[in-house]
Amino acid sequence: MKNLDFKPNDLVLEIGSGHNPHPRSNILVDRYLTKVDERSGFKIKNDRPLVIASGEKLPFLDNSFDYIIANQVIEHVENPRLFCQELSRVGKRGLIICPHAVREEIFGWQHHLWWIFSEKNTLNFYSKLTKDKKRSFFHKLYQNKTFFRQFCNRQENKLNIYLHWKKKIKIKVHLAPDKTLMKKVRKEASLLLDKMNYSSINSFAFYFKEILIRLALKARKTGKSISWIIKKAFNPNISLDLLIKIIVCPNCRKKLRLSSKGVFCQSCNIKYPLIDNVPILLDKEEMKKGY
Ligand SMILES: [Zn+2]
Ligand SMILES: [Zn+2]
Repeated sequence: MKNLDFKPNDLVLEIGSGHNPHPRSNILVDRYLTKVDERSGFKIKNDRPLVIASGEKLPFLDNSFDYIIANQVIEHVENPRLFCQELSRVGKRGLIICPHAVREEIFGWQHHLWWIFSEKNTLNFYSKLTKDKKRSFFHKLYQNKTFFRQFCNRQENKLNIYLHWKKKIKIKVHLAPDKTLMKKVRKEASLLLDKMNYSSINSFAFYFKEILIRLALKARKTGKSISWIIKKAFNPNISLDLLIKIIVCPNCRKKLRLSSKGVFCQSCNIKYPLIDNVPILLDKEEMKKGY
């Protein structure tokens, strides 16, 4: 992840962190705790304070965070406008990373609801209307072939959108697809794939670079989690102590109280589950869909 401009003391929230949160994120939000089909089967990481919540109804006080990372998550959201409103309500600045329509055209993800473009710092969403089938050929190629990963890495700025925001997030939502635009996307995707070439020497060098990056990341992560594990061993409620100051009821946005078996909203008279110190802060409708 490039160009993350947070300061050393920033409180950082990450939404949709799944199995691979950024090492710098302080608090994590994910929609699902044990349901894993939207995460391609990976298990969720909860080595830091984690809250199960909907991105369209974030259970936090206004301006709780200095910085918010939303990496590869907005394309899954039913109401991206509401999602963005919530980000700018609970946070001051942040970065949204999502697949560009060209990447969506090449890979095709079943769980992604939108074709996304960016123009003049504005995110443009076009509804997919029908559920896309996962195009497994390119997924397999990505998993198994270094030269293809190298190719995608080089084309990163064409495949992903990086939107930096401060206070407000500019977004346009179109509920019908744009045929001319989609024609352009298909053309761009095939032009891009035409550029792909194979050089064994180049891809060998890239393979080593990948290993080095993976090792460096691993070292950074264990370093972080060791101190966290020690703190947790002394005080198993440490993540709750931190969370309880900023979490609110997703229903009425009033402060919650810790009780023996969960977190409690006095004004709604609702008790939210607490599983291994992870509060499940979903409203009635979301709760029905499971977590
Ligand atoms: Zn996705
Ligand atoms: Zn409430």
